[in-house]
Amino acid sequence: MAVCVPARGEAFDAARHAEALLPLSPPERLSYLRAALDGRIVFTHGFGVEGQLIFHWICERDLDIDVVTLDTGRLFPETYALWAETERRYGRRIRAFYPDASALEALVERQGIEGFYASREARMACCDVRKVRPLDRALAGAQAWITGTRADQTEVRRQAGMVSYDTSRDLLKLNPLFDWTRAAVLEAIDAHGVPVNALHAKGFVSIGCAPCTRAIGPGESERDGRWWWENATSRECGLHLPRNVAYRRRAE
Ligand code: SF4
Repeated sequence: MAVCVPARGEAFDAARHAEALLPLSPPERLSYLRAALDGRIVFTHGFGVEGQLIFHWICERDLDIDVVTLDTGRLFPETYALWAETERRYGRRIRAFYPDASALEALVERQGIEGFYASREARMACCDVRKVRPLDRALAGAQAWITGTRADQTEVRRQAGMVSYDTSRDLLKLNPLFDWTRAAVLEAIDAHGVPVNALHAKGFVSIGCAPCTRAIGPGESERDGRWWWENATSRECGLHLPRNVAYRRRAE
């Protein structure tokens, strides 16, 4: 596929990429991106069903994409088990990024080991140290970032679009499953025999850190099990905020 791509350092044309990407299937979108760009591409894997499917396609197509995960230190045992099972199944290492030890020690000293329940600010501070700062390191020098975001998860995520240019990080961001439903993802997972988190069978849908995730009940949306004690509109961890906004919040 002939695609004219601006060199790194110029303004990337996200709209042009979107036009080329939209008619493609999600695995074709991954291949397109790898062929279109010559720099480092990072996929941040959180071991949800979307991530497992994207990882399956990356391995199936043997794409030169760095697969990383942010190990907050507070994940469920079932998530660590899935991580190990996935590496065994595909024979490919998923690179872990950890919180800075000094920053984590200072955080726990300041607000306690479960300080994130005290206020939204305390929760964001924990997400900042355990997720956002490690993400900064994971994406350093990357030309593109792939995530498992779907449009129908939340209104905030819908606004992200399938492909965008993140000026705060100076990289292209692709959400290859943006226009897929959870049902379509699960169907593909089933068809390919992709391993999934054992907690899904117990009512957990969107799975993050253990203290901040619960199973959902009938009629609840899939993100209702995350930070359930907070106002629904504030339930994002900061990973998908522009970097300058995340930094501003850090200073507040
Ligand atoms: S999800 Fe909870 S435990 Fe995990 S980093 Fe955020 S506040 Fe901390």
